[in-house]
Amino acid sequence: PEYQEPHDARRTDVTYDDLGGLGETIDQLREMVELPLRYPELFRRLGVDPPRGVLLHGPPGTGKTRLARAVANESEAQFFLINGPEIMGSAYGESEKRLRDIFEAAAKAAPSILFIDEIDSIAPKRGQVHGEAEKRLVAQLLTLMDGLEPRTNLVVIAATNRPDAIDEALRRPGRFDREIVIGVPDEKGRREILGIHTRGMPLGDDVDLDELARTTFGFVGADMAALTREAAIEAVRRIMPRLNLEDGTIPSEVLDELSVLRADFNN
Ligand code: ATP
Repeated sequence: PEYQEPHDARRTDVTYDDLGGLGETIDQLREMVELPLRYPELFRRLGVDPPRGVLLHGPPGTGKTRLARAVANESEAQFFLINGPEIMGSAYGESEKRLRDIFEAAAKAAPSILFIDEIDSIAPKRGQVHGEAEKRLVAQLLTLMDGLEPRTNLVVIAATNRPDAIDEALRRPGRFDREIVIGVPDEKGRREILGIHTRGMPLGDDVDLDELARTTFGFVGADMAALTREAAIEAVRRIMPRLNLEDGTIPSEVLDELSVLRADFNN
């Protein structure tokens, strides 16, 4: 439940350094989103409208949400999040109102990034059976996108795992007319992601992150994050017997020795 009420405009502290294997994607997003948010007058001077909507697509767990947060933070913009399935679940008429409210709040707080996660659940292809409520929500979203004043310093970023499943009308000019594909990371990407998630971890000398990156073919960022988390838990399990369970303290030598070993990654 990541849904935030409209007044919950907030800054996030995720930076580009917290993303691994997405160098080119970050470059593209900086150009499409950060530049216009930071320097709207450049676009005005050239007489072109900055991008309104950017569609991110790629498999689950590849960092789309984290990326949107990072761009917001690095652009010094407010971050607003809409979770597709969650907003769909609201009572009749309530979903459209929530959508309108968030757009309004984001425009008011501009510069802002409004992130719509799993947009396919809000705007599935027409013709795919869906009810009256769903049709109205797509229509509302399109109206809101079209109604954004060119001067409003707001970029809408939408994410989906199923780009072929969304209503084509969403991709017309002035709506989500830019697309960025995010793929599964390669070995180099996995190595970067491992570096990020083990940043603050005391690692044993026998841990070889290059080897781990090599042997985790097919893992996405979320999998790599889970792998390091599990290894850390394994390390804690190992020192459990040495904790003073009675008074709840941790002997300082135990804390000093606590580190994640190669074997911890294999459990
Ligand atoms: P979903 O489509 O399931 O919402 P997503 O693509 O939005 O997934 P995130 O929610 O951003 O993925 O990623 C989930 C978690 O996985 C992140 O919080 C982060 O810990 C880790 N992660 C994913 N991709 C990366 C990456 N490229 N670099 C570092 N960490 C990553």
